Amino acid sequence: MKGIQDSGLWRTRSFVDGQWLAGTARFTVSNPANGEPLAEVEEAGAAETTQAVEAADRAQRAWAKVPAAQRSTLLMSWHDLMLEHLDDLARILTLEQGKPLAEARGEILYGASYVKWFAEEAVRVYGDTIPGPSPDKRVLVIKQPVGVVGSITPWNFPNAMMVRKAAPALAAGCAFVAKPAAETPLSALAVAELAKRAGFPNGLFNVVVGTDAPAIGQVLTQHPVIRKFSFTGSTATGKRLLAQCAEGVKRTSMELGGNAPFIVFEDADLDEAVKGLMVAKFRNAGQTCVCSNRIFVQRSVYEAFADKVRAAVANLVVGDGLEEGTQIGPLVSQAAVDKVAALVAESEAQGAKAETVARVPEQGHYYPPTVLYHASNAMAAARNEIFGPVLPLIPFDDEASVVAEANDSEFGLAAYLYSRDIGRVFRVSEALEYGMVAVNDGILSNAAAPFGGIKASGHGREGSKYGLDDYLDIKYLCLGGMDR
Ligand code: ADP
Repeated sequence: MKGIQDSGLWRTRSFVDGQWLAGTARFTVSNPANGEPLAEVEEAGAAETTQAVEAADRAQRAWAKVPAAQRSTLLMSWHDLMLEHLDDLARILTLEQGKPLAEARGEILYGASYVKWFAEEAVRVYGDTIPGPSPDKRVLVIKQPVGVVGSITPWNFPNAMMVRKAAPALAAGCAFVAKPAAETPLSALAVAELAKRAGFPNGLFNVVVGTDAPAIGQVLTQHPVIRKFSFTGSTATGKRLLAQCAEGVKRTSMELGGNAPFIVFEDADLDEAVKGLMVAKFRNAGQTCVCSNRIFVQRSVYEAFADKVRAAVANLVVGDGLEEGTQIGPLVSQAAVDKVAALVAESEAQGAKAETVARVPEQGHYYPPTVLYHASNAMAAARNEIFGPVLPLIPFDDEASVVAEANDSEFGLAAYLYSRDIGRVFRVSEALEYGMVAVNDGILSNAAAPFGGIKASGHGREGSKYGLDDYLDIKYLCLGGMDR
C-alpha cells in the first residue's frame, strides 16, 4: 500500500470515541506531486463532531483524575510508537502533502519531540501559596485542566501542528478533538491509530475528518462542552473562528499568519546568513507561517549578498518529495501556484526584477524558486504572505529604517536578524514587534521554546514551560478562619 509497511496506519475514517466511523459520503485526497488520487476518505460533519465532543467530555472527567505520572507514561508510549513508525508516518506525510521525505521525517520527529516534552512537563504542574492579607486567611493557587479542547489545523504541517496542540492538552488533563485540513487528513488519522495502540482511553483523543469545515468548526467553537479552542491557520479564518468562540467566551489559542522579516546587517557573516536564509525561506517550499517573507539587506552588502543567494538558489533541486535528492516539493494546489505567480507578476510590474533558476517537473503543482531583486517593502510580495518559494531582496540604509519597515506589518510572528554586533543584536531584537526573533539562525522552533505570535499573528504559546498554561485554568482557594 503506497510503500507503507504497517497497513494499519493507512486510515480513511474519522476516529471518534475509540472507533473508526463509517461515513455516507467520501472525498478524495490526492498527491500534490502528480495530482493523482491517493485515498477516498469518509466524510464526517457536524453530527460526528458532536459525537466526538460528547465522548471527549466523558473521557475528560476520568482523565483529569488520573495521576500526572500515569498520563505522562501514556504520552511517552505514544511518542515511542511515533518513533517506531517514523518511516511510515513520514511517507504518508509526503504522499499527501508533498514535502521532501527528509523534511517529512523531520516533521514527525519534531511533532514527537513535543509529546516527549509535555510527557515530562505533565508532572510539573505546580501551584502556589501566597501570604494572606490578614491573620485568619491563607491563599492557595491550584491549576486544573480546562476540559475539552477543540482544534483545527492546516495542511502545511499535517502531523506536527496537530500533535503540538494535543500533547500539552492531554498532559494537562484535557480531552482533545482534532479537525485536520481535508487536503491532508491521513497523517492525523495515522497518529490516531498510534494513540489507540498506546492505550488511550476511548474518547480522550478524537480526529474528525471532512470537507465541510464551517459545520465542523461551528461545533468545535460553540458546543457548550468545549472549553478551549486551539487553531493554526490563516488570519482570515482565525478571526472568524475567534468571533464564533466569543459567543461562549471560550478560551483560545490562535497561531495565525506571518510576514517574517529577515534582516542582514553589513557586519553579518554573509555565508552564514545565506545558509540560514535557504532554510528559513525554502523549507516546505516556502509554505510555513515562519518563512522569511521579506529579506532586508543593508545596501553596502546588497550586491555581494545577492550574488551568494543567486548561487545558492541555482543549486536547488525541485521535484517529487519521494525522489532521492529533492529539496523542494510541489505547492499544495494549483490555486496556490496561481496565487504565488500573481504576487510575482504584480511585484515585477511594481519594479522588481524576477529571476527563476531551477527547473521544475511539468506534472504537479510546482512553482520554481524565484528571487526578486530590488524589491521594496511596498510591493505585493512584501505586503502579502507569499507561501511559496519566492525570495524578495529589499535594500535598506540604516538600523532605524529597517526596524520601522520590519514592523510595518499587521503580523508579528517570527523575525530573523544577522549581525555580529552584540549591542545591535539586543537593540533590534527588543525593537522588533514579533513573538519570536532568531539571531544568526534560520530555524527557531523547538519543543523547549515558546512558539507564538503577537498582533494579527495570534496569541497563546506552544511548547516550552509556558505551553501547558494554555490548557490549564488557575483556581484560587481562599481559606478563612485559620487563626482559630
Ligand atoms: P489555508 O488558507 O492555509 O488553507 P485556512 O485558515 O483556510 O488556511 O485553513 C486552516 C484550517 O482551517 C483547515 O483545517 C481548514 O479546513 C479550516 N477552515 C477553513 N475555513 C474554516 C471555517 N470557516 N470554519 C472552520 N474551519 C475552517
